[in-house]
Amino acid sequence: ILIYLFNFKIILGKNGVPVAENFRLEQSTIPDTVQEGQVCVRTLYLSVDPYMRCRMNEDTGSDYLLPWQLSEAADGGGIGVVEESKHNNFAKGDFVTSFKWPWQTVAVLDGSLLQKLVPQLVDGHLSFFLGAAGLTGLTALLGIKEKGHVSAGANQTMVVSGAAGACGSLAGQIGRLEGCTTVVGIAGTDEKCSILVSEMGFDAAINYKKGNVAEQLRELCPGGVDVYFDNVGGDISNAVINQMNKNSHIILCGQISQYNKDVPYPPPLPPEVEKIQKERNITRERFLVLNYMDKQEASVIQLCQWIREGKLKVRETVVDGLENIGAAFQSMMNGGNIGKQIVSVSK
Ligand code: NAP
Repeated sequence: ILIYLFNFKIILGKNGVPVAENFRLEQSTIPDTVQEGQVCVRTLYLSVDPYMRCRMNEDTGSDYLLPWQLSEAADGGGIGVVEESKHNNFAKGDFVTSFKWPWQTVAVLDGSLLQKLVPQLVDGHLSFFLGAAGLTGLTALLGIKEKGHVSAGANQTMVVSGAAGACGSLAGQIGRLEGCTTVVGIAGTDEKCSILVSEMGFDAAINYKKGNVAEQLRELCPGGVDVYFDNVGGDISNAVINQMNKNSHIILCGQISQYNKDVPYPPPLPPEVEKIQKERNITRERFLVLNYMDKQEASVIQLCQWIREGKLKVRETVVDGLENIGAAFQSMMNGGNIGKQIVSVSK
């Protein structure tokens, strides 16, 4: 089997940009026999996600994330098919998923780590369970429900940063489904901006690498911003917060612009922006999807229904081959993806 090992810690400690060379590919073997309670799986899809950047540090900065160990297989969200089972819940041919899937072509895993998947829920599009019908979709939906204070008929304007990424592209659409009247995205290329408007139903999108974000926001959101789904932090978020209304809400989903820096999470706002936040009574509470897993089942069913009905448009950027997962991670961190970045390992 092929196995993708974590090779190098980021040389500069917490400050530094991850590259494909942080990993290396090796050939290895798996145990000959599957023990009682274990399942042998063949990997179909793997997920690369921004939080993995924290797992490259000695200290991940959070108690729910363990650092990847040198010369051990990296791991994360994965989907595969059961080849052999010695666990009562699983049979050969079942499709299964786990948040702790090793970056290997084949693996023997404890059945307790696995959840069975129902492909019909997503019309057979299995990789959606790593994105729109998985943690990413849950993050967008539950972030909005728990922290967004969106209500139909309230004529709210929502702004989404990182809008063409996995979470962002869903968040804007869900904001609309939940009742926002205006939805504006901020993303890194003209192509992304045009897809947000033509495919995903955003009213407008701003390319933050080209124009002046503050100026364009003023034009596109003349009544100010009521809900801000924040994926990126930094200068973009400072510009948005400046134009937020009194008693409005930030959904603090992520701060990817700060992940290669040695700063605490969530990073504090600059004093002048914090002053605005306090004076206008803007909420900015930490949101972590893992704290709401009691709502997982009902929320996944809702997401799958929207997907099947065509109300939630899903984009993926798929890279083939386990050997390319490091490059896929690097690319996603640099904006190379539209929608969810997926690695297809076998068919
Ligand atoms: P993603 O948005 O699909 O991919 C990352 C995107 O970030 C890139 O495509 C890039 O798009 C953008 N980006 C990278 N560097 C940037 C910078 N310096 N400034 C602005 N944008 C930058 O990834 P995702 O999985 O959906 O995650 C999005 C955010 O949600 C992350 O912050 C992640 O940590 C967070 N998240 C939070 C939770 C939670 O429970 N709170 C769960 C999942 C994810 P551009 O081309 O637009 O730059």
